[in-house]
Amino acid sequence: MFHKIISLALVITFSICKLNAQYTIQFSDNYPPYNYLNENKELVGFNVDLLNAIIDLYKTDIQISSGNWKKINNALASDKIDAIGGFHFPGSLDSEYIYTRSAINTSHCFLFNSNYLTKFSLEYLRTSKKPLIAMWKNDVLIHYITSINPSAQFLFVTSYEDLVNAIDREDVTCVFGQRTGAMYYAKQLNKDYVIPFDHRILERSMGFKVSKNVPELASILNNGLEVILANGTYQQIYDEWIAKYDKSPTNWKEHIETILIISLIVITLFILLLIANWILQTKVRNKTKDLRAQLELNSEIMTELEQEKNKAQESDRMKSAFLANMSHEIRTPMNGILGFTNLLKTVDYSSEKQAQFIDIIQKSGHRMLDTINNIIDVSKLESGLEKPSIKEVNIQKNITELCEFFMHEASEKGLHLIFKEGSSTLSKPFYTDEYKLNSILTNLIKNGLKFTHEGYVELKYHLSNEAVEFWIKDTGIGIPLDKQKTIFDDFVQADYSHSSGYEGSGLGLSISKGYVELLNGALKLESETGKGSIFYVRIPNLNNGIELQKTPQKKEFIKSTPFYKLNMLIAEDDNMSFLYLKTSLEGVAKNIIRATNGKEVVELVKNNTDIDVILMDVKMPLLNGYEATKAIRKFNKTVYIIAQTAYAQENFKQEAIAVGCDSYISKPIDQDQLLKLLAKIIIN
Ligand code: ADP
Repeated sequence: MFHKIISLALVITFSICKLNAQYTIQFSDNYPPYNYLNENKELVGFNVDLLNAIIDLYKTDIQISSGNWKKINNALASDKIDAIGGFHFPGSLDSEYIYTRSAINTSHCFLFNSNYLTKFSLEYLRTSKKPLIAMWKNDVLIHYITSINPSAQFLFVTSYEDLVNAIDREDVTCVFGQRTGAMYYAKQLNKDYVIPFDHRILERSMGFKVSKNVPELASILNNGLEVILANGTYQQIYDEWIAKYDKSPTNWKEHIETILIISLIVITLFILLLIANWILQTKVRNKTKDLRAQLELNSEIMTELEQEKNKAQESDRMKSAFLANMSHEIRTPMNGILGFTNLLKTVDYSSEKQAQFIDIIQKSGHRMLDTINNIIDVSKLESGLEKPSIKEVNIQKNITELCEFFMHEASEKGLHLIFKEGSSTLSKPFYTDEYKLNSILTNLIKNGLKFTHEGYVELKYHLSNEAVEFWIKDTGIGIPLDKQKTIFDDFVQADYSHSSGYEGSGLGLSISKGYVELLNGALKLESETGKGSIFYVRIPNLNNGIELQKTPQKKEFIKSTPFYKLNMLIAEDDNMSFLYLKTSLEGVAKNIIRATNGKEVVELVKNNTDIDVILMDVKMPLLNGYEATKAIRKFNKTVYIIAQTAYAQENFKQEAIAVGCDSYISKPIDQDQLLKLLAKIIIN
């Protein structure tokens, strides 16, 4: 019972308070999102929250309620309430009421359906034929629209729902209404295709319309509005209720053109960038390539220069070595020749001693001759003048002769010269350059004997139809590994030192190598210092493909000459040489006459038909030996002509035979050789 009494007292107290509220303010119950009744019939909205914030601020006793717009206006007019919230202020304020400061600005705008229109503009409205516009019936606004397009037609609506729904009709060009309210309904009805045209018309302030009886209420509201604006509460309420309806939704379709253009520009720029990048990259690549090529070229040039420099230094070194060597190689035998001839001249020595001295003089002469021949051979090889003269060669015979030749030298040195009879599968003639082959083998055997002090020098060979292979092995001093390549170069010796104790010009191996190459062969070396060396030579049988030389037919004559005595003509301009020949030939010559130039030779042969043999010097005044021979052959085909020259080369021999000489002998003329040659003639 007591409990019930207390409850009743509380209700009464509350009612009295309510009844006696200081102020009453009403809002329209149907103006979302500003003020309206929600589905629970509670009054909510932007204006309501603003007022509640002010009430909270001043703890003022204000009763808030809602109602039909017309009714609440009447209530204010009849002083039943103190103020109306959410009131659009008229253009000119009347003095009957107090209007607070504006709580918010509202505006009207056109709204269109983006499904039908990609873009809306006043120009579009102006030029449209009889556009149909849905809107509230309002004279001012009708006037505004007809001022844009006089043919405009209208579809009047009485609610915002109808207004927003009208936008779905295809015959409706656009709708015209309060922007925030229309967008609120568009959102509620899920019409995201409703787009407001951003041209705001009929901008008005909305605020509180207050009775003149309560000016202090107007002050409270004005101050309150100012405070909540300043402290951020206003912004919060605005964001909650209005912001989302006020901002323009993005109309992608409207922007599609712009987007396309921008995309196109971006793509074009991107492509241009790509192209520029590609061009740049290509340029950079090319430049890098060029630079790399330049660098490579530079380094090649540098390497070449380096090599040239090394070569120059090497050749400088070699030149000095060569000069020293040559000087040594010429002076040493000269020393022997001059020294011993002097001894022979001045003192009376026993005939044994004299023979020994003469032997030394001869050896020295041969050594000098070897050096000179080597120099000539090398110079011919270097100039490319040397050509192989291929003819049939009896290899076995040549090898036997070579071994016989060196046997004496080997035994003098206390060395064994082993000649291993090689295997032979040769079934057809062997063709090569005999002179060069002999020269190669001579050099190698000579070196073997020269650089070996004890043991042996061995020559082994294998002969086949394809090639002949030689192994020249010695048990000599060997060749250091680092010298094994260079010793084949001109003037190079493994040991340059003067104290090396080995005579030689450093040319033998380079000549051998050059000859081997000319004959399409191969030359290899295996050597170990202190143990010995093996030189391997392979010379191919060149009987195919190369034109063969016809060996000149030997003439058969002087058969009738009795007692080995010959009528001889010596064509020689040099007195010393003539004297030597005359002395050498005394035993076999019946009569010797002399010519000192080519012309004289021809004359003498014409006038002395009994001349059997002419020793024809090639180098003579007026007519040289070749020309003289040619002239003689015109009238005398039988006289035997022996060409004699200091030019040792093979091509001089060939030329001599070609002009009509019968044989050939090189200077310095060896008496034995000459007599053998003459004996052959006589025998024949
Ligand atoms: P030369 O013998 O006139 O010095 P070569 O060209 O024939 O010139 O040889 C070059 C160098 O090679 C020789 O000086 C020598 O140092 C080295 N050589 C050649 N053959 C032999 C060998 N059989 N044993 C050791 N050294 C050799």
